[in-house]
Amino acid sequence: MNRGIELTNINEDYIEDYIRSITPKNNDNLIRLEQYAAENRVPIIEPEVAQFMKVILRNNKPKNILEIGTAIGYSALIMAEYTDEHAKITTIERRDDMVNLAKNNIKDSSYSDKIRIIKGEAEEVLLTLNESYDFIFLDAAKGQYLEFFKHCSKHLASGGMIMSDNVLFKGMVATDNLVERRKKTIVKRLRSFLQYINNIDGYISCVIPIGDGVALTYKEDRL
Ligand code: SAH
Ligand code: MG
Repeated sequence: MNRGIELTNINEDYIEDYIRSITPKNNDNLIRLEQYAAENRVPIIEPEVAQFMKVILRNNKPKNILEIGTAIGYSALIMAEYTDEHAKITTIERRDDMVNLAKNNIKDSSYSDKIRIIKGEAEEVLLTLNESYDFIFLDAAKGQYLEFFKHCSKHLASGGMIMSDNVLFKGMVATDNLVERRKKTIVKRLRSFLQYINNIDGYISCVIPIGDGVALTYKEDRL
């Protein structure tokens, strides 16, 4: 079966296939983006990660969201659909082609007022932001997660949450047996990142083995 999405070595196929078989379909615009992503190998969030995100968003009701890594705007559109009408989403992307695709995709949706794309290197753009965000979705260059997180946590409201995607990186983060030589540095950095977010004072993190691995980090109210 052509799954349209690369195997992740995180869950057995039968588990993933089963979960996907009971997951309702997204709206037509999102389905179109899912097809585009599969055909063009754009790494959008997997269906079970999208569902998880929807539940978190409905429960947390964030008003101001920051995303690092827009790609074609798929996850930004999911976040737009599952937040209330006054919520705002700022999303950062460094590639011109992706920014253009995302702009078109967002224009074609009913959420163009909610989403703002900033083109640039996240590490530079983050320094220019001075708002506080109550939900931050980290989904860009995996080798820089720790650096991104340190910046993002300063912009995170107390009681807010950072959700980080692809933290198990096809299972490589969990075992050296899967590590491809060229990926060694990224894997090392992701391990440092997970160590950091699991031990930083004032935050609580968990790692959830769905999709390519998702981490959730909650910032305590007292901070
Ligand atoms: N969140 C999207 C997928 C993002 S894929 C979704 O699920 O629909 C990761 C994207 O992050 C890519 O488009 C890549 O160009 C962008 N990216 C990677 N590193 C970046 C950086 N340092 N600054 C800005 N964008 C970056
Ligand atoms: Mg991702």
